[in-house]
Amino acid sequence: MDFDLSPEEQKFSDEVEQWLVEHHDPVVMDHHRENFSQLSDTPERRAFMKKLADKGWLGMSWPKEYGGQEIEGVYEFILNEALSKHAAPQIGKGVGIIGKTLIRHGSDKLKQEFLPKILTADVEFAVGYSEPQAGSDAANMQLKAEKVEGGWKLNGQKMWTTSAHFADWYWVGARTDPDKKKHDGLSLFLIPMDHPGLEVQSLPTIGKDTTNQVFFEDVFVPDDYLVGERGRGFHMISEALDLERFTMFTLSPITNRTDLLVDWVKQAKRDGKPLKDDPQTRKTIANIATDTAVAKALSTRFICAAMKGGKPPTIQSSQYKLFTTTLSQRVCDEALDISSAAGTIREGQELAPLLGRFEGAYRATMNETVGGGASEIQKNIIARRHLGLPKNF
Ligand SMILES: Cc1cc2nc3c(=O)[nH]c(=O)nc-3n(C[C@H](O)[C@H](O)[C@H](O)COP(=O)(O)OP(=O)(O)OC[C@H]3O[C@@H](n4cnc5c(N)ncnc54)[C@H](O)[C@@H]3O)c2cc1C
Repeated sequence: MDFDLSPEEQKFSDEVEQWLVEHHDPVVMDHHRENFSQLSDTPERRAFMKKLADKGWLGMSWPKEYGGQEIEGVYEFILNEALSKHAAPQIGKGVGIIGKTLIRHGSDKLKQEFLPKILTADVEFAVGYSEPQAGSDAANMQLKAEKVEGGWKLNGQKMWTTSAHFADWYWVGARTDPDKKKHDGLSLFLIPMDHPGLEVQSLPTIGKDTTNQVFFEDVFVPDDYLVGERGRGFHMISEALDLERFTMFTLSPITNRTDLLVDWVKQAKRDGKPLKDDPQTRKTIANIATDTAVAKALSTRFICAAMKGGKPPTIQSSQYKLFTTTLSQRVCDEALDISSAAGTIREGQELAPLLGRFEGAYRATMNETVGGGASEIQKNIIARRHLGLPKNF
């Protein structure tokens, strides 16, 4: 079976690679930010996204009537992998989650207002699903949306909203119908991030960046900004989550880290002896290199192949997310073990191996095994939907 890119896809991949090399900018492309490098959270990074928009690389898989090119999603996959390889901001929530959901379910007004701005990189979104009691169990959201004259009044709290401190609009799930079954009582709303009554509080993570908690006090949302049908919020969220599981967790950073570790082992010494001669170290990096190759095969076989058909499948998205985020953490963990006590020296300090890149990356990869659905949840999906095992909760 041939899982390689077609000649056209390879040509696009080469074009993107060359463009990224030509547009290299250390202010925009920063490997030390790890997974958070995907965000367009500074003026320079937003300007970079506008250049991608000018190239016509935003919304390539969208229908032509909404400004897209109707080409297969695999091109977006190729683009995101290349962007993450260079630690550049990625096409994420706007094109993938919000844009694609609006195309399928949004009103004409919302489509006209948001889709052109997404394609020109003139709008950034934050996504608010999680709450203190609704993380893995996303359907348990309790943010209250009460019907009032001309719209809705929202009260409550969201947790872990990445991007809320710089985004322009908030894509929020709220409970509109508390008397219905929990999965059927949720709706989606779009709210300007500077709306009175919204309070954003920073929430540092174990990684290097922060996410946020957001408090709502009598936030009025006009009827027009309810997305799709009332009560269908959870179904729209589930549809978009499969996409998030691989667009947000690209393979390139893992390959980069594996290469970095192998290169370092080739020249580093421990107690005066070359690490490359140490049998345990050799065994470890051989295992990591093999698992990185497996991750690449998973990515091309499951995800890339599925994207050629248009839609990422749920089970394969879970398998991919589980394997790659666990591997990502293991690569850093092994690197810290190999570099022994020096590995614990904080990032940026001269004595730290590779300037502490793995110390910082290890902390960042902890986040990856939780965000976008924790590893245990991916295992539950695989156990139930793929293996037919009974529900355990
Ligand atoms: C860096 C970061 C950024 C994030 N950004 C966003 C964002 O922008 N928007 C947003 O809405 N959310 C965001 N999240 C939230 C993320 O989706 C949740 O953290 C995640 O879904 C887990 O929910 P929780 O933290 O409430 O943990 P819980 O759901 O309370 O889980 C705690 C532990 O219990 C395990 N567990 C839970 N249920 C089960 C079960 N049924 N079976 C077995 N084990 C189980 C989990 O795997 C986990 O280990 C972000 C999280 C992080 C860490």
